[in-house]
Amino acid sequence: MKEFSFIVSLLLTAVSTAQISMDTNYAGANVIIDSVAVDTVYFRPDLRTTQGKWFYWNFRAVSNVAKKWYFKANDDNILTSLGASFSTDGGNSWQWINQDDNLGPNLFSYTFEGDDATVRLSIGQPYTEKNFKRYIESYKNDDRLKLSVLTTTRKGREVERMTISDFSIEPRYKILITSRHHACEMMSNYMVEGIVGSLLSDDPKMVSLLKNAEITIIPFVDKDGVEEGDQGKNRWPRDHNRDYSGTSIYESTSAIRELKEDWIKDDTWIAIDLHNPWILGKGAERIYFVGKEPPAFEKQQKKLAQILSNSYQGELSFNSENNFLAWGESWNTNSNNTKGWSFGTWSKSFFKKGLILGTTVEFPYALNGDQVVTAQNAREFGRDLIYALKLYIDQQ
Ligand SMILES: [Zn+2]
Repeated sequence: MKEFSFIVSLLLTAVSTAQISMDTNYAGANVIIDSVAVDTVYFRPDLRTTQGKWFYWNFRAVSNVAKKWYFKANDDNILTSLGASFSTDGGNSWQWINQDDNLGPNLFSYTFEGDDATVRLSIGQPYTEKNFKRYIESYKNDDRLKLSVLTTTRKGREVERMTISDFSIEPRYKILITSRHHACEMMSNYMVEGIVGSLLSDDPKMVSLLKNAEITIIPFVDKDGVEEGDQGKNRWPRDHNRDYSGTSIYESTSAIRELKEDWIKDDTWIAIDLHNPWILGKGAERIYFVGKEPPAFEKQQKKLAQILSNSYQGELSFNSENNFLAWGESWNTNSNNTKGWSFGTWSKSFFKKGLILGTTVEFPYALNGDQVVTAQNAREFGRDLIYALKLYIDQQ
C-alpha cells in the first residue's frame, strides 16, 4: 500500500482585514486547498491512494471576521445536490447548508457569524470513532451489548465489534452487519446508530428478535481510512470491498472472513453490508438494495425489500420496486467484480450452506428521491431495516 501522510493546508489571504484559514488537523478530514482569491476558497478532494476520481472532502475553516465566504470546487461532481453540510460543534452534529447558499454544481457559500468563527464543511455528515464512542457510551453497561475488538489495523487502530443478543438463550440466527468498507461512506453509521438503538430498546419486537438472533455489527471496516479521511472507494491496490477473495490484504476483512468459522459456524445467518452510492443522478439519489444472482438469492433480497416497503415507519420512503437495483442493471453486473470479491459475493458463497439472505444496502448522502437525508432520518431507516429483518426471520 502506498504510504501517505496528511496534507495540512493553511492558506491565508488578506481582503481588507478579512482572512480565512483552512486545516485538516482532525480525524476524518480531507481536502486540498488550491488557492484563496478575494472572497473565494478553491478546493478539491485529496485523492491520496484512490484510483481515479472520487468526491469525499471534509475540512475546517476559520474566518477572522463575520463574513460570507465562497467555496468553489476545482473538481466536478464533488458536491451533492444539497451543496455541502456543516458542523459548528466540532463534528458532533451536522446539517446541510441553507439552500440559498447552494449556488450551483461546483459552488456554495457559508456565512461566518462572528470573529474567528469556526466551521467544518463537508460533502456529507462525517462520522468517525469519536462520534461512535459518544453514541455508544450510554449503552456500555447494557448486558445485551458486548463491545470488543475485531482486530487491530496495520496502523494500530482498533476495529470495533458490537455483538448484541439475549445471551441467556442460544440464538437460532446470526446476523452480520458491516459498514464503511469504503471509508468515506459515513451516512451508514447513522443507520448503524438506528439499528443499535432499536436492538437495545425494550420494544417487545426487538426483545423477541434478540431471543432468536445474535447480531454482530462492524461499524468501521476500513478504520484507518475513516480516521485518516480517505476516500477508501477504489483504494489502491485493492479496496476493502474487493478484498474477499484470495488472501485478504487488510486485517479487518481477513478477520471478518474468520467470523464465519469462529462465530457463525454452521448456524443460519444473514449478511447485510451498508454502503453509500455515487452522489448525483436519479439512480444514486435514493436508497436501494443491490440485487445479486442467482434468481433464488435475489428472490430473498426482494422478499426483504417487500417487507421493508410494507413496514417502514421512518421519514424516508422505501418502495420495493423503485428502491431495488436488480442484478444485470446499470453497474450491477459481473464487470463490477473483476478486482476481487466483495463482502456481498463472499457471503453469497455460503448461500444454501447456512446463509439465507444477504444484501448490500446503498443509502444516499443527500437525497432519497426528493426527500432530504438527515442524520435523524438515516437512524430511522436503520431502525426500519432491523425491524424488517425481524419480520423476515419470523417468516422463516
Ligand atoms: Zn461503498
